[in-house]
Amino acid sequence: MDGREVVLAGFVHETRDLGGIAFLVLRDRKGLAQITLVKKMVGKEMFKSVRTISRESVVQVRGQVKAEPKAPRGFEILPTDVRVLSAAQVPLPLDPTEKVECELDTRLDARFMDIRRPCVLAAFEIESAVLRSLRDYFYGQKITEVFTPKIVAAATEGGTDLFPISYFEKEAFLNQSPQLYKQMLMGAGMDRVFEIGPIFRAEEHDTRRHLNEAISIDVEISFADDKEVMSILEGAVVEAYRYVAENCSYQLEVMGLDLQVPKAPFRRITYTEALEMASERAGVKMQWGDDLDTETERFLGETIGEHYFLTDWPSSIKPYYTLPYEDKPEICRGFDLMHPRMELASGAQRVHDYSLLVERIVEKGLDPDGFEFYLKAFRYGMPPHAGWGLGLSRLVMTMLKLENIRDAVIFPRDRRRLVP
Ligand code: ATP
Ligand code: MG
Repeated sequence: MDGREVVLAGFVHETRDLGGIAFLVLRDRKGLAQITLVKKMVGKEMFKSVRTISRESVVQVRGQVKAEPKAPRGFEILPTDVRVLSAAQVPLPLDPTEKVECELDTRLDARFMDIRRPCVLAAFEIESAVLRSLRDYFYGQKITEVFTPKIVAAATEGGTDLFPISYFEKEAFLNQSPQLYKQMLMGAGMDRVFEIGPIFRAEEHDTRRHLNEAISIDVEISFADDKEVMSILEGAVVEAYRYVAENCSYQLEVMGLDLQVPKAPFRRITYTEALEMASERAGVKMQWGDDLDTETERFLGETIGEHYFLTDWPSSIKPYYTLPYEDKPEICRGFDLMHPRMELASGAQRVHDYSLLVERIVEKGLDPDGFEFYLKAFRYGMPPHAGWGLGLSRLVMTMLKLENIRDAVIFPRDRRRLVP
């Protein structure tokens, strides 16, 4: 474009005045552009006014492109007109050009300004690419996208981890999972569905991998068993990595990442094998039937070093809708997909037999009457089915080696944060 007239707009990254020559560096999501003002060429007035533009203001520049090897990206703009579209106040709530990290809370309080930092923005652009690759993957597998309600009357798994809301004269909650609705759609003959949407958990946890609102990628497939949906799941993860590696080289470079695409099939380890592995660790006493704690998960992750599945869980620690093995009902067809750092997804072949489902609900100490809207779909022909739920932010944070799930969510919701 050498010699062409262009109009550029962006944030003022910095201004530098070297006497007879001044630089105005603009920034947008694609990078920096240098505007070079030679006092003799632009005149005193424009030269002076540009020096007073505050950093981070939004500016539009008209001018001529000139190849300049010393400028960022190999060109500069010789301006004929510089217009401030929106001036930034001083001081800034945080400095987007600052190399040193500032406190997470400060960053989240001024998230709009934080996201102007290229390395922060890059993660969200990659997240969008992940979503696109997953949707394409699902469409390619003839899976139908659906939406299920987030305002619901009953808990998915019973329990208390729900946010109550006022809904006219009724009691209602924010849904913790689309699980029951996905299953009802199997009874509706939709066969293969996926949903990408929010889940709400009223847990008071304060960890780097939990939030109270998260985006879940959910799949449910009729006439499939646990093994089949596990291969759809590992295929989805590999595809997301592959797509990002191929299409997000600019963002990966900004983040300083060299993305390794994992290879399918992932290792399958049964819960019982995992317990045996964990018992090699000194001082650990885990009983068969205990849920694996964070320490054990970390130990397994370090030992295995790549994505893996944990299968064949005790029926007692998986939800009522997980199908027990017929010949060994104390074990079920539930699985977790693990990244060495944390759980990414949970899934299972589901109970599709009405009587067994009622029995399982009762066994879990829940009242079947509260699940009538769901159970009804199991009385008139329900195909066998299986599915899973994958946490979007956990997929992205492990892919991009982000320390905290809050770095993978634009406006995170946790125990202490409800704004912005
Ligand atoms: P964990 O044991 O890590 O708390 P979970 O087993 O309670 O997770 P599931 O109910 O199995 O979670 O939900 C399926 C997936 O949704 C999880 O594997 C995770 O990726 C994501 N997820 C669940 N709860 C949260 C949360 N509070 N914050 C972020 N992601 C979540
Ligand atoms: Mg789980």
